[in-house]
Amino acid sequence: MKKVYLETFGCQMNVSDSERVATSLAAGGFEVTPDEDSADIVLINTCSVREKAEHKLYTRVGRIRNFRSVKPVIGVMGCVAQLEGETLFNKIEGLDFVIGTKAVGRVTNAIEKVLDGESYVTDLGEREQDYDWSVADAQRHSRYVGFVPIIEGCNKFCTYCIVPFSRGREVSLPASKIVRNVLELRRQGVKEIHLIGQNVNSYRPTTDSGLELFRGATPFSRLLRAVAATGIERIKFNTSFPRDFHADIVDAINEHENLCNWVHLPVQSGSDRVLKLMKRGHTIDSYFKKIDKLKDSNRDVALTTDIIVGFPGETDADFEATKRAVEYCGFDSAYIFKYSPRPGTPAFQMKDDVSIGEKKLRFIELEQVQKRTQRVRLQRYLGKKVQVLAEKTSSRDPNDITGHSTCHKLVNFQGSQALIGNLIDVRIREIKANSLFGEVC
Ligand code: SAM
Ligand code: SF4
Repeated sequence: MKKVYLETFGCQMNVSDSERVATSLAAGGFEVTPDEDSADIVLINTCSVREKAEHKLYTRVGRIRNFRSVKPVIGVMGCVAQLEGETLFNKIEGLDFVIGTKAVGRVTNAIEKVLDGESYVTDLGEREQDYDWSVADAQRHSRYVGFVPIIEGCNKFCTYCIVPFSRGREVSLPASKIVRNVLELRRQGVKEIHLIGQNVNSYRPTTDSGLELFRGATPFSRLLRAVAATGIERIKFNTSFPRDFHADIVDAINEHENLCNWVHLPVQSGSDRVLKLMKRGHTIDSYFKKIDKLKDSNRDVALTTDIIVGFPGETDADFEATKRAVEYCGFDSAYIFKYSPRPGTPAFQMKDDVSIGEKKLRFIELEQVQKRTQRVRLQRYLGKKVQVLAEKTSSRDPNDITGHSTCHKLVNFQGSQALIGNLIDVRIREIKANSLFGEVC
């Protein structure tokens, strides 16, 4: 049996794609191995959101080629594969096949062609009508947490972003299919599901199938209610697009205990001028109103965000506005990125006039503001009881169990292995920089 080693870079959509690819490889007679050195085939799932992520691919393939005495079959899938297509064969010596973002259902065919002696195998075709979105129990990244794609692609075309080009237009999966997927995961013992997509709250299926019994002003809030009704213990969703984040989502969270108290709402900048240049579709005031509504919720909803510093034309005053926004919102955590010009995006035509040094300084300064606000913000958990899904033994201390709270914090606590897979009440005793520490109640 030929062995395949699958390596994944990038977002949770990529992780989810890899889980499904692993499922089809195993069903197609391949062994999916965690051991790279013994693999006959190495498949790399790539990310192109920032230049650094893209460069990782070139370094990785070089290493595989140079360190193995017999070169394995090497394939590339994901966003870089979709964007670069056949040109990758010129850029990467020894590459055997390229699979686009919608062709992941046909990875086994591509590998078989290479094994039969074909060179430069490329599939950038469309997704099959009957594509199977389910994942085999053995191929999930976690036994207890399941990723459930609900929408793929993106129609927003934020000026800096490559995703609409690498992932195509938004396509929403039918709610009935999503609910069936969730019920199957629940049957397999999964405790927490993440509804995933570039913009989950832009969910707009072509039929009402599966939503008929559920109310809400938008299809997404109706889907949240439909998924809540499956009885699965915990539901998280990620990422939400601010312009499409309506009050009915907060209402659904307020009404259903199994909708977790965590919302990831990327603000990107605190300056209206920059937000307009980014074509984000929200102003900072409209964003603040959504944050206010979330803070008014009867649940203690944890808020997280993404921010880009050093967008073309970002002045000191714009950057100051971003710092103020971070202070106002009080995010539980924030992913801060230095702007990375992506060829083919509208922003690539703008003058990248914030120097690398200035981008670095703004990154560090904003990180300090975030850390300070975060430290204060997280104090609210001290002495409080939070429910944690015990996921595994901590890699730092074999006596500790690690997992996530409903508010999506990493929580460590002392406990026996027998707790793994269960929802445990933990009292928080210590706030660390990026995690909480507690004891079983
Ligand atoms: N759809 C989500 C949204 O609208 O916020 C985000 C998806 S994107 C893959 C993840 C994050 O990467 C973005 O929120 C943004 O902060 C960051 N990002 C995207 N393009 C970038 C670029 N060219 N340079 C730096 N960061 C970028
Ligand atoms: Fe990229 Fe904007 Fe789409 Fe998010 S909404 S994936 S940032 S284009």
